[in-house]
Amino acid sequence: MKQLFLFISLNCLYLNTYSQNDTLIKIDHDANNQLTIKDSIKKDSLELSTEQNVIKTLESPKKDSIAMIQLVDHWDTTTYNPYKNETKEYPFNIAFTDSTYASPILGKKVITSRYGWRNRRAHKGIDIDLITGDMVMTMLDGKVRFVGNQPGHGKIIIIRHLNGLETSYAHLSKQLVEVNDTVTKGQIIGKGGTTGNARGSHLHLEVSYKGNYIYPEYLFDFGTKNLIRSQNIWVTKNWVTPYVHNSKRQSTIVICNTYEEALESKKRQKQIYVVKRGDTLSGISNKHRVSITSICKTNAIRRTSTLKIGQRLLLIQ
Ligand SMILES: [Zn+2]
Repeated sequence: MKQLFLFISLNCLYLNTYSQNDTLIKIDHDANNQLTIKDSIKKDSLELSTEQNVIKTLESPKKDSIAMIQLVDHWDTTTYNPYKNETKEYPFNIAFTDSTYASPILGKKVITSRYGWRNRRAHKGIDIDLITGDMVMTMLDGKVRFVGNQPGHGKIIIIRHLNGLETSYAHLSKQLVEVNDTVTKGQIIGKGGTTGNARGSHLHLEVSYKGNYIYPEYLFDFGTKNLIRSQNIWVTKNWVTPYVHNSKRQSTIVICNTYEEALESKKRQKQIYVVKRGDTLSGISNKHRVSITSICKTNAIRRTSTLKIGQRLLLIQ
């Protein structure tokens, strides 16, 4: 009897979710066809009497439908980065409903290494100091997409948030959640450690959107107030390119709040130049219209330094 009841309840739940999905997807696709949407909602919602109510109802499922799509798109619980083969387009937009995040660790966040170029390799996350066994929390609400062991990362947990952003917590000693678990902002998900390629115990935190690994400090202020820098952020290629950042210091952060600002900042973007045979500092300076002083300062080299073939030079125009 109990089993029959459970079966009926599950079926009802399934049918309910299905019908909700059906309406939500319809809203998304028929965004211009307001009448169709209003009609279908009116049929379902008996309490709706005024035009205002209809509009209110229209807005909220739309938000939910965006979250729902984000939690389904490339939902792969067995792969670290399911977006690996996707073409990337810049700039892209990330919207937050929260103005603050929950700190991933307890106490002051001491940053030991930043996103950027480090020991001739890309460091695509930020390192926050902790002691093995310290609790690690999810920064925002979301759903656990991946719990595994990755070469380099060690024990890692990846959480997909409602806006499509993913946060990854690596070098853990313990993973306390499972894939497809729903988590709430600040919830303990694991314990910090040194698994994978970690010299000392720390949290390696990555922030990504559809496979683009973003400079974490562009979105989040790691000060004591746990602020999200803007509710609507445009991310340019600059903020997903480790080459143009130095892991030893924080890059100057100027937030792009609009598409236009993002396009404008693209013009001022930094460039990486790979030294070729026969190149000289003055030649590079003339060709790229960047002063020799600036090249030397940015790359911590002297005017008299010998350039090596294959050496990468950061040019800031
Ligand atoms: Zn790291």
